[in-house]
Amino acid sequence: MNKIVAIDGPAGSGKGTVTPIIAKRCHLVNIDTGATYRCVALAALRNHLTVEDEEEIIELSSKITIAFDEEGKVYLNGEDVSSEIRGKEVTQIVSPISSIVAVRKNMVDLQRKMAEGKDVIMEGRDITTVVFPNAPYKFYLDASLEERARRRYKQNQEKGIDMSYEEVLENIQKRDYNDMHKEVGSLKRTEDAIYIDTTHMTIEEVVEKMMKIIEGD
Ligand code: C5P
Repeated sequence: MNKIVAIDGPAGSGKGTVTPIIAKRCHLVNIDTGATYRCVALAALRNHLTVEDEEEIIELSSKITIAFDEEGKVYLNGEDVSSEIRGKEVTQIVSPISSIVAVRKNMVDLQRKMAEGKDVIMEGRDITTVVFPNAPYKFYLDASLEERARRRYKQNQEKGIDMSYEEVLENIQKRDYNDMHKEVGSLKRTEDAIYIDTTHMTIEEVVEKMMKIIEGD
């Protein structure tokens, strides 16, 4: 059986930071499932659709092509959109768009296909519950709201994304609520997922703790 490491947790909990490091060290293919929903959101924006245009968004989500390269770059219909999908506009609409049940079905199918026959590490909101509930390694990363907002604000500044700390905090709070109250695929902490509160941990500490479990020593 292929190795599957499944990670869930809210925005800013550290998933996106530790996953590429563990992927490299453990030779796993990294599948950032949030990026797939961000691609749908970007495609919707480019087609001047709003969250209310459900039918059009569902159709779009079945037509677009999404791919990752080994460096973690994200391609929407062949175009490198790695930076654009992290921008303010996409971040503001991605959570409601990812609540559309048929969009989730299309993305979950795509994510499972991307993982076929490979040893993977996959992070998102519903990986341990929906995408790969039987994964042998399941983690739930968490941190306090303030710490998560602080991390995301800092990351945004480094990337030149213009959002104030208050805007980031408000967006994370809204996304947390929406992500935890979806009809399908909502963010849930399950009993069999290893819970790691990263609030007071360094990146290296989180990586080491997870790798010890994945590598079994
Ligand atoms: O992880 P990231 O912040 O990039 O995810 C963006 C959004 O995509 C999340 O806020 C969530 O609404 C949605 N998402 C999801 N299921 C996943 C991954 C992300 O609904 N597996």
